[in-house]
Amino acid sequence: MSELLTVSQRQRLVELSAPIDLLDLEFSDKSERDQFYKAKEVELSKANKEKIISLLSGEHRPLLCTIESDLVKWLTEKEAFTQVVTPIIISEKALDKMTITAEHPLTSQVFWLEGKKCLRPMLAPNLYELMGDMHRVLRQPVKIFESGPCFRKETQGALHMNEFTMLNLVELAATPEGGQMERLKQLAHDAMAAMGILNYELEITTSEVYGKTLDIVADGIELASGAFGPHPLDAKWGIFDTWVGIGFGLERLAMVKGGYQNIKRVGRSLAYLDGARLNV
Ligand code: ATP
Ligand code: MG
Repeated sequence: MSELLTVSQRQRLVELSAPIDLLDLEFSDKSERDQFYKAKEVELSKANKEKIISLLSGEHRPLLCTIESDLVKWLTEKEAFTQVVTPIIISEKALDKMTITAEHPLTSQVFWLEGKKCLRPMLAPNLYELMGDMHRVLRQPVKIFESGPCFRKETQGALHMNEFTMLNLVELAATPEGGQMERLKQLAHDAMAAMGILNYELEITTSEVYGKTLDIVADGIELASGAFGPHPLDAKWGIFDTWVGIGFGLERLAMVKGGYQNIKRVGRSLAYLDGARLNV
C-alpha cells in the first residue's frame, strides 16, 4: 500500500515553499515517507534561513519594495510622471462619484469608518480629483501616479489580501482621441520591462459600462488593470479630455516575479519576511 505525506507534513512543507509537485509524492511505507519528509524539512528550512540572512546582510529591501522602486524610477526618470501622496481615508461621497453605490460588487468589500468615511479600496477617486484640478489650473497634460495601501474585504485565497498596495498611474490630455489603447499597451509593456518581468500577456476586455479595458496577466493571474477615457464618469470630476490609467497590484507583481504560490508571502506580514517564513 502506498503512503502519502500527512496533513501536518504537507502544511509544513508548504510553509517552507516546497515545490507543489513534491506534496503529492507516494511512498511505499510510513518509514520511507517520514525519512523523506525529515530530509526535505531540513533542506528547505536551511534554504529559508539563508534567504533571511541574505536579505539582512545583502539586499536589505524586500521584493515588494524593489518592485515599487523600479516603477517609481521608470515613471519619474523616463516618463516624466509626478508622484502624488493622497489620503488613505476617503469619503463616502468620493466612492459614490465612482458609482460605487449599494448595488456595486465592491460596496460589500469596503471597510467603513465613523462619519461616512472609509479606507480607500482604490486610488482612482483621489487621482480623478487631483488630475481634474491640476488640469483646470495648468491647462496642459497631467501625468501623475500614486503608490500606496488600498483595502478590500476579501474572502482571502492565494491572490487576495485585505490590505494591498496599488500603484496607479494616470495621464490626462496627453493622447489624441483614438490613440488611448495603443498608449495603454505601450505603458504596460514599458512598465513590465522596467520591473524585469518578461512573461505576461495583455488581455483586452470589452464591458458595456466601462468600454474597453486592458489587463496585464501572468500565469493566469491578473497583475494590473488599465482603462481609458473619455468615460461616462468623467463629467462628475469636470474632466472632458482623453486619459489613460493603469492600476498595478504590487504584491501580485512580487508574487509572480519571485515565483511564490501565495500572495501572503510577499505582502504586509508578521509571519513572512520577503517570502521567507519566520518561525523556522
Ligand atoms: P481581482 O479580479 O483579481 O479581484 P480586480 O479586478 O478587482 O482584481 P482592480 O480593481 O482591477 O482589481 O485592481 C487593480 C489591481 O490591484 C489588480 O489587477 C490586482 O493586481 C490588484 N488587487 C486588487 N485587489 C487585490 C487584493 N485584494 N489583494 C491584492 N491585490 C489586489
Ligand atoms: Mg481588474
